Amino acid sequence: MSVKKIVKYGTPSLREKSKEVHKISKKIQILVEDLYDTLYALNGVGLAAPQIGENLRVFVIDVGTDPKTMNPITFINPKILKKEGAINSYEGCLSFPDAYTNVRRYKYVKVKALDIKGRPFILEAKEGSLLARAIQHEFDHLDGILFIDHCRNRFETDKVLSEKGLNPIESDFLIDEKELEEEIINTPQEEDKKVD
Ligand code: ZN
Repeated sequence: MSVKKIVKYGTPSLREKSKEVHKISKKIQILVEDLYDTLYALNGVGLAAPQIGENLRVFVIDVGTDPKTMNPITFINPKILKKEGAINSYEGCLSFPDAYTNVRRYKYVKVKALDIKGRPFILEAKEGSLLARAIQHEFDHLDGILFIDHCRNRFETDKVLSEKGLNPIESDFLIDEKELEEEIINTPQEEDKKVD
């Protein structure tokens, strides 16, 4: 359909809780098409509806790296059923142009959602995979949570944000994740792939 303008960090709507989808209407179908068009145009891994100005519980992910490995997955009204383990994830976000930082994530997630036809599905993302981390990143957007809220070092993250001309960390939103942090420190880290 069309490539949409990305809502940038600092816009209040990015901090809002998004609403459930009650019907897979034409509007939702167009929203999903726009999410994919915008995601592919910007070479992202995932994109959530609030990032294109629609505060609805919808996001799309494609961890495929080229047209041959394309694997678009649409999540409508997602619920995280299970999360385990801890991992360092080097992430960015299309709402934060060119800013990357280390954040804490669960290693594994199991998620339930509806697809574009309204059919429920359950997906288990492999431990530490790009998909597992992308699901957590995009899911957070639906609750107004941003990746920097999970940052492992707020000073390092603030430095990156300022270098990219972005607003500093919103400290009220920082999430206390002592247990995750301890687990990350105590577990060997695998090779890291960027999420954005
Ligand atoms: Zn994001």
